[in-house]
Order: sequence, then C-alpha cells, then structure tokens
Amino acid sequence: MPVQDVATPTTCRCLIGGRWREARAARFADVYNPSTGQAIAQTPLCGAEDVDDAVRSAVGAWPAWRDTPVVERARVMFRFRDLLDRHTEEIARLVSREHGKTLAESRASMARGVEMVEFACSVPALIAGEITPNIAPNVDCDTVRHPLGVVAGITPFNFPAMVPLWMYPVAITCGNCFVLKPSPRVPLTAIRIGELLLEAGLPAGVFSIVHGDKECVDALLHHPQTRAVSFVGSTPVASYIYQTATANGKRAQCAGGAKNHIIVMPDADLDATVAGLCGAAFGCAGERCMAASLAIPVGDVADELVARLQDSAAGIRVGRTDDGQTDVDMGPLITRQHLERVRGYLDSAAQEGATVAVDGRQTRVVDAPGGYFLGPTVVDHVRPGARLQTEEVFGPVLSVTRVRSLDEAIALGEKCEYGNGAAIFTNSGRAAREFKQRFNAGMIGVNVGVPAPMAWHPFTGWNRSFFGDLHIQGKEGLLFYTQQRMTMTRWFAENDPMWKPH
Ligand code: NAD
Repeated sequence: MPVQDVATPTTCRCLIGGRWREARAARFADVYNPSTGQAIAQTPLCGAEDVDDAVRSAVGAWPAWRDTPVVERARVMFRFRDLLDRHTEEIARLVSREHGKTLAESRASMARGVEMVEFACSVPALIAGEITPNIAPNVDCDTVRHPLGVVAGITPFNFPAMVPLWMYPVAITCGNCFVLKPSPRVPLTAIRIGELLLEAGLPAGVFSIVHGDKECVDALLHHPQTRAVSFVGSTPVASYIYQTATANGKRAQCAGGAKNHIIVMPDADLDATVAGLCGAAFGCAGERCMAASLAIPVGDVADELVARLQDSAAGIRVGRTDDGQTDVDMGPLITRQHLERVRGYLDSAAQEGATVAVDGRQTRVVDAPGGYFLGPTVVDHVRPGARLQTEEVFGPVLSVTRVRSLDEAIALGEKCEYGNGAAIFTNSGRAAREFKQRFNAGMIGVNVGVPAPMAWHPFTGWNRSFFGDLHIQGKEGLLFYTQQRMTMTRWFAENDPMWKPH
C-alpha cells in the first residue's frame, strides 16, 4: 500500500476499491498550513466519475461485508483502535499542521475520535434484536437490524480526525460500506487514518475516500446507490444536503452550525466561570460547533465578569502550531478568507453599538507573519438582534449581551435560530433546573462550558443546528445506519413427522 508523503506538497489520492489512486478530476484546490499560509498539498475536486467508481466498488464489497459475522467486523475496529492509539501523536501533529489546533487540542480530539471506535467495538452487543415468542399459538415474532448498504459521510474542516470518526466506525461495524468526503481544507488527516483502517484488515471497497467540493457532494447525493448521508458542517449546507438527500429517497442526518449561549448568574463561582468561558470561547480558536459564542451575564455580575475575561484573555498565548509546539494556547484560523470574515464582525461591531473590550486584531505572531492569526476577542454591550448576537462567527470572539433576569436570558435563546449547546454557570440548583427545563437548545451544560456528549450519547442539536431524526453518535447513530426487519414465524407442527405432542 503506497503511503502518502505529507511532508512535501503532494496531490492527495482517493481511496477506491482498496487502492490509493489518482482522481480523474481536472480541478484541484490547495491545502494550506494555516500557521504560515503556505500550500502543503493539493486536493483533487472529484466529480461524478470518481464518485461512481467509489460507490460501485462499495456496492461490490457490500454483500461479503454484510455477511461477515458482526464479531469479525468489530474485531477490525479493535485492531483499528490499537493502531490509532499507536499513531495518536503522529496524527495529532498532522491535525495541528493542516488545521491549526494546538497539539494538546489535536490530541484531545483524537481521544474523542478513538472513543467512537471503542463504541463501535460494542456494536455486536448493541445490534442484538428482539423476539416475542408465542404471539399466537405456534407463532413467534422477531425484529433484527440490517445494514443499509452504501452510505456516505461529508465532513467539515474543524475536526479533521474526530468528526469523520463519529460516522464510519459505527456505520462499517453495522455492516455498511462507507464513502467519506472530507473537507478539502483538511484531507491529509482523513487519508492517514484511512491507511490505518486498511492496515487493520478492512476488506477492499468497504471504506472509500473521495475529495472535493459541491460537485463531489452532489454526485454522492444523486447517486442511485447511496442509501444514506451523514453530514456535519454549516447550517445552509446542512439544510441543502438534507433536502436534496431526502428528495432522492435517502436517509439523512445533517448537523449544522451553532450560536451557543452561556448564562452567568450573579451567584456563579467567577474563577471557575471565567476559566470555563475562556476555554469554551477560545479553545480551538473558537472553531467549534460547541464553542461559547455569547456570554449572557445576569444582573450586576457583568462588570466584574468582563474585567476578569480581559485579564484571562491577556494570558492566552497565540502562536504557530505546525511543528509540535507545546508553548501555545491558541493557533490560527483555517484560511485567510475565514480570518477576514471573522475580522469583519469586529470591524462592524461599533456601528452596532458594541464595545471591543479585548481586541484580538492587535495580536502579532512574529515568527509567522503569513499565518491566519486572530487573538482572543471579547465584545461587550452587544445588543439583542445585532449580528454578533445572532450569527455564528466561528472564531475566537466572545460576545457579551447583558440582561436583567434569567427569564430575559432564556427569552434570548427562544429567538436563536440554532440550538446546539447552552450552559449556565450558577450555584443555584433552582436556576440550573429552570434553565435546563426551558432553554431552547439540545445540549445543556451546568457549570460546564462545552457540554459535548461522549461517544455513547447522541449529539443532540436542535432547531437549525440539526436536520433529520436520528442524531450522530450513541445508539441513534447505530439506528441511523441500520433498518429493521420483522419476521413472523409459524411452524405447522401437526404436519411435521418428527414432532410428537407432549
Ligand atoms: P461547510 O458547510 O462549509 O463544509 C462542510 C462540508 O460540506 C465540506 O466537506 C464541504 O466541502 C462541503 N460543502 C461546502 N459547501 C457545499 C455546498 N454548497 N454544497 C455541498 N457541499 C458543500 O462547513 P465548514 O466550514 O467546513 O465547517 C464549519 C461549520 O461546521 C460550522 O458552521 C460549524 O458549526 C459546523 N460544525 C457543526 C458540528 C455539529 O455537530 N453540529 C460539528 C462541527 C462543525
């Protein structure tokens, strides 16, 4: 198996039929090291031909894989898990290089991804069916779960290792064949992990990788032999993919963007709150769908909260992450365009009546002038309805909207188009309970800034943060990748010469 050299600029290959091969695509996109702004690879932008090759190879591999006993399918995942464990450091460095996370963040994201593989190892226990014997004389009824066939996954740039691992380990262990289309901004990690999956003993065609943009996605959405689509990315694309996939008769689970509210009650432990808020807002440079994007101090805690946020943000070390650096707390944003977009919110903040209390535009990284850096930023007095209050920024920008009561904070949530995460910092069980019962979001933290669920719980976004019925992760993920078959059985014992009445 040829291993891709990611140390020098190279053209990424597709994984089709168990072989790494050049795409037939005529279009290519550069992959950048966001710490320096230098191109480190080119990725092909595949079209219908490459997608058809990948899906056909998956269709060909499916009958044998479907009929492979589930324990054997799970054993591939056990070996895959061990390989990921052994290569964690190498892959974490690759994630940092092509995405820009700090090494600690990349390692943590690998740990979350490995937990999904461990969850997939338990599919044999989770997939067991149900039986009701004797529903009528001599009649039994059973329900078992079957794989769907060929399923596709389309993933975002912000977690190059973890998000794809949310999908294909479970899908494959359930007996499906999987075609992954990673983000064209971060294809290298997906390729390296794909090599390890083959090394774990996965048969050819069960897992494929195609690269590309909308054209490639559309080919997957319209291919007659893809049965289901898992998507993680921005809300407009999630909505488009959900509508297109379901209109074409496919199952779809599409996780979208977010605007996560963090409410700070006057009785909150401020040391823990500020630490939690800074981690949630500035971790992964704010490029997280569970990032804290809007702090909502209730009552007279606001001034002290903002002052402490200023102090804390000043201590965050921003720097390049592409060469195993460990003395950095925050890395660059993903692309120059994205950096400009995030800066645009700050440039227009004053026009909307807000005050930039900590200005990340001033941050300079002297040894990487071409990198896409923006320091931690806090914008105070953001009014309800302002863009910084309602829109997903996806950068290290924490907006602060001051309110008088918990009711007012909960009402802000009601108007939010998203519904991924929300958290409250308080010492009041009563306030926490009220918040948990009433807040308009699917993942709630109580004194936890990033309430992202573990592998065996579903990732339960609400509103326009999720399109579909069955969420990614947990048992819902397993239900998504399988269909039920009920069998009703009756044997006519009277006609059976071997049967003796007792
Ligand atoms: P994106 O929507 O731009 O891209 C996601 C995927 O869709 C990529 O593979 C991309 O190539 C493809 N794509 C882009 N435009 C397309 C189009 N017009 N038609 C078809 N496919 C298209 O998202 P991104 O910028 O890579 O990632 C950031 C977004 O992902 C943020 O909004 C973030 O909140 C979201 N996200 C959500 C979750 C979640 O669980 N809800 C998790 C991680 C990231």
